[in-house]
Amino acid sequence: MKIRLAAELQKDSIVDGEGIRAVLWTQGCAHNCPGCHNPMTHSFEAGALINIEEVYSWIDKLEGHDGITLSGGDPMYQPIPCTKISQYAHDKGLNVWCYTGFTFEELLKLSNKNKNIMEFLKNIDVLIDGPFILKEKSLDIKFRGSRNQRVIDVKRSLAGNKTEILKGYNEDTKKKEQKVHVFI
Ligand code: SF4
Repeated sequence: MKIRLAAELQKDSIVDGEGIRAVLWTQGCAHNCPGCHNPMTHSFEAGALINIEEVYSWIDKLEGHDGITLSGGDPMYQPIPCTKISQYAHDKGLNVWCYTGFTFEELLKLSNKNKNIMEFLKNIDVLIDGPFILKEKSLDIKFRGSRNQRVIDVKRSLAGNKTEILKGYNEDTKKKEQKVHVFI
């Protein structure tokens, strides 16, 4: 199985989630957010197709990391290899954060048609959701570019059938927690 990536695994980030993280930059994103910081990751043909076993070998070499972060691009366009990589990271004791331009509620709707999205969600610990919105841009919020984006505790949200913001992040989000229906 292959995954299309924009770059090799980036080691030692402290800005893409809590703790020391390694970041996997997936290639391909159709959201086209004005002001996107990473436009070179939009094309679905650019970057390189990499065997996921190679990604596993990069993860094997990590030392002292808290987790991996899937970013891009948007990892949700490649849910199957991203699920496998997330499961591999969990097996190695690493937590998994993921950035997406979709909202959590949009992903739940999409997962009705594409079960691979739900499978991927089940293997994510924390989801930063929603598009980057230039007029909501802020440098005062942790791990996000704009205030509409939320830091979501995915496991608690799926278990409770309700979007749950990760503890400690409620105070700097504008969005109210929303009731959602989970189809699993
Ligand atoms: S979702 Fe992320 S990568 Fe995609 S256009 Fe928006 S900011 Fe850029």
